[in-house]
Amino acid sequence: MKLTSEVADKISAAVDAAFDRQIAFTQELVRHPSLRTREASAQDLLFDAMRERGLEMDRWDLDPAELAQHPGAGPVAVSYENVGNVVGTYHPASEEGRSLILNGHVDVVPEGPHEAWARSPWDAPVIDGWLYGRGSGDMKAGLAANLFAFDAVRAAGFTPTGRIHFQSVVEEECTGNGSLSALQRGYVADAVIIPEPEEDMLVRANVGVIWFTVRVAGHPTHPREMSSGFNAIDAAHHVMERLREVEARWNAEKDEHRYFEDLDHPINFNLGGIRGGDWPSSVPAWCELDVRIALYPGVTADAAWAEIEECLASIDVDESGNPVEAVATRNGFYSEGYVLDEGTDAEEALRGVHREVFGDELRTFTTPGYLDGRVFALYADTPALVYGPISEAIHGYDERVDVESVRRITKSIALFIAEWCGVSVQLHTA
Ligand code: ZN
Repeated sequence: MKLTSEVADKISAAVDAAFDRQIAFTQELVRHPSLRTREASAQDLLFDAMRERGLEMDRWDLDPAELAQHPGAGPVAVSYENVGNVVGTYHPASEEGRSLILNGHVDVVPEGPHEAWARSPWDAPVIDGWLYGRGSGDMKAGLAANLFAFDAVRAAGFTPTGRIHFQSVVEEECTGNGSLSALQRGYVADAVIIPEPEEDMLVRANVGVIWFTVRVAGHPTHPREMSSGFNAIDAAHHVMERLREVEARWNAEKDEHRYFEDLDHPINFNLGGIRGGDWPSSVPAWCELDVRIALYPGVTADAAWAEIEECLASIDVDESGNPVEAVATRNGFYSEGYVLDEGTDAEEALRGVHREVFGDELRTFTTPGYLDGRVFALYADTPALVYGPISEAIHGYDERVDVESVRRITKSIALFIAEWCGVSVQLHTA
């Protein structure tokens, strides 16, 4: 049956009716500190929540050897023992509608020093319409919205007629290997929604990301004969400056990349970590820089990486003429950017339901950060709708998500399920 406004009203009302429970579930999820490799207890919670909904359950640990065969996988620097995805599948009695993946990542980034937060990052209070906590916006509100959107369709008296996979994946914040592993396991559908915190908007284009560590070698001596030594930490500054030249060059090319012309600085190289030296009274023998770079859609990771290696190889001496040896090793994301093609049926369906819920046109935008959408767009030819609630301070202090925005996004997802997969009216037996 069609998604009439009567059907839409019933589904929206069902979202409202369960919304307090949805927020309570989101809070419970935030209270599990699902930092990298420590996602298991949050995944337990999601596994149980999906099983209670009668979904066919699947859970597996990521396999580094299998992932290594995929060109979009990030090299793995941690153990994947007990690090895994949860997928719950809804099978309609007879599959007539289009299929859908509702994807979200359960991993969160480190919370940083707790004293800089107004309250514990794992407390998850709701204050003045904001739900706080690390991972609240990015993206546990989205994971919960996926499930409660499905609930609302059924609570309103309808049955989806397309297959739906609910995916809770790991590794989105460091390699993208979680969603990739789900694809390798065979999960595909006609469209995917990923409710990342995107300010009630749809992501049109997004960058790829590469992570690497540069090790800079020095020559250790006692500081009393410092001039005969060579300080690797000083040299590392020089290496970063040279990488900044590549960054500047890529940003200067933004006009050649559709959807990136209007961004001030789409390509950001982030010096995210630094280690070096062994002793205050020894000239440092080594320094390591953890770097995150971005690349435009259409630029292959191999091509971007070749430029980085070329840049590092060209550094032979620093400003003072000391020889510099800088070697880079990849240790995370090796991902390419993507563009969501305009005018797909999936986007049109989302535009329709967004208009119904928000009373406004859906806006699209370009994000200069990594998204798992690339897994679906690049390797499964699937329209990837990255669309989610308003948030503040993701990856920062006092991360929070706008509760009313979550409500509206949940309604959009619920209506999308009805529109995209189709629904039939439930036959009740008294
Ligand atoms: Zn995210």
